[in-house]
Amino acid sequence: MAGYFEEMGWRELQDGEQPNHLLHMARFLLDFGFHGENANGEWPKLPPPASREAVGQIPEVTIDSNDKSCPICLKKFQVGDKGKQMPCHHIFHTTCILTWLERTNSCPFCRYELPTDNEGYEAFKKEKKRAEQRKEEIEILHNSMFS
Ligand SMILES: [Zn+2]
Ligand SMILES: [Zn+2]
Repeated sequence: MAGYFEEMGWRELQDGEQPNHLLHMARFLLDFGFHGENANGEWPKLPPPASREAVGQIPEVTIDSNDKSCPICLKKFQVGDKGKQMPCHHIFHTTCILTWLERTNSCPFCRYELPTDNEGYEAFKKEKKRAEQRKEEIEILHNSMFS
């Protein structure tokens, strides 16, 4: 098995670490994404909702100008409206963004992702990041050998 894990750029379980079926599912999905028809390594469906904790941490702001509009409902903000400012600094009506984040975890404007409560998805994101790092490492190695 060692060869297989090395080949795929995955680390083996450390001492005392339990196999994690969610991680396996994530690896499967990632593998599927890389070799399937849509070889872009993307999560195959809408990402899960943002975690309650992450949503609870989004600060509330009071709108102070009426020349912008909410990207979700497209209505103009009125001075004094309550809004929520995402970590990416985009502002939405409180009700609009809360409803949105109950469906999926990313900013509807720029796709900035909030953490989710979905262990499978979080494992998938970690594994994707690891695979990207691995790819970069291979490119660096390749460049150092052939340039
Ligand atoms: Zn709105
Ligand atoms: Zn945003």
